Order: sequence, then C-alpha cells, then structure tokens
Amino acid sequence: MGVSLEYEAVVIGSGFGGAVMGARLSKKWPGRVALLERGKAYALGAFPRSPHDMADNVWCPDGDRMRRPRAVQRRKERRGHLDGLFDIRHFDRIDTVTSAALGGGSQIYANVFLRPPAAVFEQNWPCNVSRDALAPYYDVAQQVLGARPVPPAEGPHDRRYIRRTGHFQAFARAERLPTALADICVFFGNGYSDGSGPPTPLGVQETNRYGALQTSCTYCGECDIGCNVQAKNSLDRNYLHAAQARYRLAIRTGSEAVRIVPLDAQLQDDPDGDGRHGYRVVYRDVQSGVEHGVTARRVVLAAGTLGSTELLLRCRDVHATLPRISACLGQRFSGNGDFLAFALDGKREIDSTYGPVITQYADHRLFDRLDRSQAFLLQDASYPTQAGWAVAAVGPIMHPLAKLWQVLRYAFDRAYPGRKRNSAGYLMQKLFSHDVSRYSAVLLCMGLDTADGTLRLNRHGYLDIDWPQDSNRPLYNAIVRLGKRFTRFIGGRRYLPMPNWLWPINNNVTVHPLGGCALADSPQLGVVSARDGSRGQVFGYQGLYVADGSLMPTALGANPAATITALSEWIAHEMTGNVPDADL
Ligand SMILES: Cc1cc2nc3c(=O)[nH]c(=O)nc-3n(C[C@H](O)[C@H](O)[C@H](O)COP(=O)(O)OP(=O)(O)OC[C@H]3O[C@@H](n4cnc5c(N)ncnc54)[C@H](O)[C@@H]3O)c2cc1C
Repeated sequence: MGVSLEYEAVVIGSGFGGAVMGARLSKKWPGRVALLERGKAYALGAFPRSPHDMADNVWCPDGDRMRRPRAVQRRKERRGHLDGLFDIRHFDRIDTVTSAALGGGSQIYANVFLRPPAAVFEQNWPCNVSRDALAPYYDVAQQVLGARPVPPAEGPHDRRYIRRTGHFQAFARAERLPTALADICVFFGNGYSDGSGPPTPLGVQETNRYGALQTSCTYCGECDIGCNVQAKNSLDRNYLHAAQARYRLAIRTGSEAVRIVPLDAQLQDDPDGDGRHGYRVVYRDVQSGVEHGVTARRVVLAAGTLGSTELLLRCRDVHATLPRISACLGQRFSGNGDFLAFALDGKREIDSTYGPVITQYADHRLFDRLDRSQAFLLQDASYPTQAGWAVAAVGPIMHPLAKLWQVLRYAFDRAYPGRKRNSAGYLMQKLFSHDVSRYSAVLLCMGLDTADGTLRLNRHGYLDIDWPQDSNRPLYNAIVRLGKRFTRFIGGRRYLPMPNWLWPINNNVTVHPLGGCALADSPQLGVVSARDGSRGQVFGYQGLYVADGSLMPTALGANPAATITALSEWIAHEMTGNVPDADL
C-alpha cells in the first residue's frame, strides 16, 4: 500500500502571518491543512488576572532557559511547568516580549494597524516589494482586522472620552509634529466596523461578520494582558475562526515544532533533500513532552521573528536537516526602534488606566520630512487598572517625606481613639486620593533603528541576540529628548525611561522584534525569496515558506502587524492563486 502525505500544508505558529496562512491555505485545500501552535487557546474570560496566576503567566520551555529572566526560571523550578502567555527574554543589550497563544501577538498587542511610509520600502527591500505593490493586501488586512480609529466622544462625561488622547495631540501640536488618531483593531460593534452605523453601546455582545462572538469595547485598558471580554479583534475572532469553522483547519495548540525534515520519494527523512517530496514536521506536546510527527507537501513557518529564525538556525546548525539555508539567516535583526518611558506625576489628568491601549501617534520625522537617524513615532498608552494599583503603591517612594508624615499622623490618631481621622472615609481618601496613574503617562516610541542586529545560537544551541545598541544612539537620544519635553509639557516631576535602560542593565526592550529571515532578491542578500514565482519560499528549498515578522529586511518605524499581515496575504495570493478578499 502506498504512503501519502497527511496534509497539503502545515503552518507553524498562529500570529498574524500564521493566521493569514491558515485561513488562505485551508480555503484552498479544505480539511487538508494543519496548524501547530505552542501556546494555548483562551476562551471568554480565560486570561489570568490574580497576582498568582499572572506570575504563572509566562512561557518558559524545558530546553532553552538560559535567556529567561532568573525570577522566571526560579518559578519554573517551583511550579514545574510554565506555558503562559508572555514569552519574555533577556539578551545582552536587548530584552524581548512576545506572545505564546492561539492568535500569537494579537492577544496582547496594542491593536494599532499602521502602514509605514513608502520611503521605508525604498532602502534595503527587494525591488518588487513597495507600499504601492502591497496596497491591496493592506486594504484586505485592514478590513478583516477591523481597524478604525477610536469612536468620537460627546464630551468629558461620555464614557468614550479618553483624556490622554487630547493631551498627546496638544503636545504634538505644540511641537509642530503631525498627529493623527490611530486605526485600532478593536470591536465597537458591527455597524461601526463596516461604517454603516454608530458604535454599539459599551459591553454589548454581537456576532461579528465571521461568526465569532465579540463585545463592544468596555474601555477597561486591559488590551495588553489579554482581553477577557473579546473586544479585541484578535486573530481567533477573524482569520482563525473562519478557517476552523468553514474550512476545517486542524488547529493543534500546545504543540511546539522542534524540527523540519525534507522527505524523499518514499516519504522517508532525507536531510539532503530540497523539499520537492514534502516535509516532516516534528513537534513536542507541551504538556507531556512527547514528540510527534506530521507530514505535508508544504510547510509555512510563522513562528514569529524569534521562533522562525531559531527553528531554522537549529534545523541548519544543530539537526543538520536544512543545510542549504542561506548564510544570511539571523541577520538584519531589528527592535523596530522600540523605546518605552514614563512621564511621572504631572499636573494634567492623563488617566492612564482608561480606554484601548493606543489611540493616537505623533510623527517625529518618519512620515513627514523623513530623517532616518531620528525617525520615530510617539504613541500614548493605557495599562490595566490592576497595574494602576501597583503604581499607586510606588507613591511613597516619590513623596517619601509626605508619606512619613502621614504614617506618623495615622499612628498618633490610632493612639487617641475616637478622632474622626480613624473613620473609613478618611482612610479611603488618604489611600486613594493621589493616584499616580491619573497624572502620569506612558510614552511608547518606535522608529527606524539600523536593523543590524544578529540572531544566532548560543553554545547550548538556543537563540541569542547581538544588538549593536551604540549604532542606534542618535535615535534613542532623540526619543529621550522628546520624552523629556513631554514630561515638562504635562508638568511632570520626572521622566523615567524603562528601568532596563538605566545603569547597570542598559538594555533596550522590544515588543516588535523583526528580521532574521529577510526577504530578498537572492540568497546572497537574504533568506526568503521575494521573486514572483517563489514569493515567501526559503532559498534552496521547494515548498518551505516563511510568513511573519522575520521577513522584514529593515525596521518599519510603524507598528509592524499591518505589514506582516499584508505581506502574508501577498505570499498566500501566489501560493493559492486566489485573490484575497475580506469575506475570507
Ligand atoms: C505588548 C505588545 C504590544 C504590541 N502592540 C502592537 C501594536 O499595537 N501594533 C502592531 O502592529 N504590533 C504590536 N505588537 C507587535 C505584534 O504583536 C507583533 O509584531 C506580531 O504579533 C508579530 O506577528 P508574527 O506573525 O510575526 O508572530 P507572532 O504574532 O509572534 O506569532 C508567532 C506564534 O508562533 C508561536 N510559536 C513560536 N514558536 C513556535 C513553535 N516552535 N511551534 C509552534 N508555535 C510556535 C507563538 O506562540 C506565537 O503564537 C505588540 C506586541 C506586544 C508584545
């Protein structure tokens, strides 16, 4: 009896690239496509919230623990198993935060959908990839992801009123920087999504156009820790939902791909093969640790910048199953110029715990009057109320003498019972009256860094990053200067960069890692082909594709999910021959 391949395609990873591929390929080959995702699926209300559960909510695999923060490693030793949402890694000079979940980064991202300026594609990109060439794919992606600006508010008493947006825009105008509301992938009701009507009242549930249940955004500010009311247009509400419900995409969560091996004509492993007979993907059941294999004619790597590059590096250099991959693998790593900072304790009411995470951006020489040495965006951010409480606890550090005086007075009042200051009302006022979050702002910046980092394997065979921070100093210095001016603008007491940036750690933190499997016109310039006829294919192999952030040959300056989605649509179009549309 002849043996045959199990699937037409296996997709590894379910972030923006993987979700597009899962949807488009399963539509082409219904019931013949599988998707492997190492993380879990999260149902309505399933994202952790208690301090204990949040401490467990990190990803720490058995093999590669060297680059996990020590506190995470210690917790893993105590708890035995950590397969949570946040994959946090600490490299020399740069830290990374990514996601492990069905839907990838869409479960914790800040929802912004932004096309970079055309000029970004004019330097170090393959000749046939431009913003114009990608325009139809951006359009489809924007419709599927439901990206629109936050709905207008009637005034300060309207629950849709987000205080910080106005302050950020006023600052941009004072600095003569262009500013705009960001398109965000958040559900405000079907009518608002398709432009046919006003937003649905906060908290009301509707079935979206793909048949998934969603809630009109409640403005809780919890976008970055997983939306428990399903108001984010995360990928499990659109691309992945349609693929599974309509085209029988076989989604296997808790399945971490560990090896890709080409097959020969008898479907035996053939490390010297070029993929023409298909591949075996070996994956590990995250719960049991047991390895399984699945065979397919095509494999699409969509495990994110770190995941895809690491898997290919290990297949080339540790397992020797994909030896033909270009020597450029791992090059052109970028943190997309990410820089996180805080303007603390100002005089304006910022109210940082309210509303969707990002609502606007100010353009510092990226779209307008491009200057590549200091091109970046300044975006506002909210954070969950739970974090607001934690920030309030920092208050005594900021006003130590006032707090000491308060404690002494409280002790005095306790000693003389019956005084009115012992009342619950007094306590509530003293505890809650100076909410630091109310008067402090998060400053999210990203821009055109030099994208000259390197992803490589360490001596244990797992991912490491060389990040040439110094070559990006002009960008970071410009970001810090603007952040300090913002702090003065709101009357803030202190500008505080992300603590990792300070001595002695001096690290950047990126939530937008890019590059490593760069798109290029030839294997001398990159890892993945941009040529028509082989879009998205790894040079040297047939039927082995990459579709995720690792494709970017440069920083984008803008938030990358829009471009990752558009490029994946562009690759899927050629793979399937089907013109993509937003109906899925
Ligand atoms: C806090 C935060 C806020 C952000 N805000 C924004 C924003 O507002 N706008 C924006 O554009 N971008 C934002 N981003 C970045 C955005 O989330 C990423 O750029 C995007 O998710 C990358 O998409 P991707 O397809 O490359 O990979 P990912 O979305 O990272 O998906 C990769 C998937 O592959 C899985 N995986 C990895 N290795 C394996 C393996 N071996 N086997 C099986 N599965 C595997 C992972 O678990 C993950 O689910 C944000 C990121 C963070 C962390």
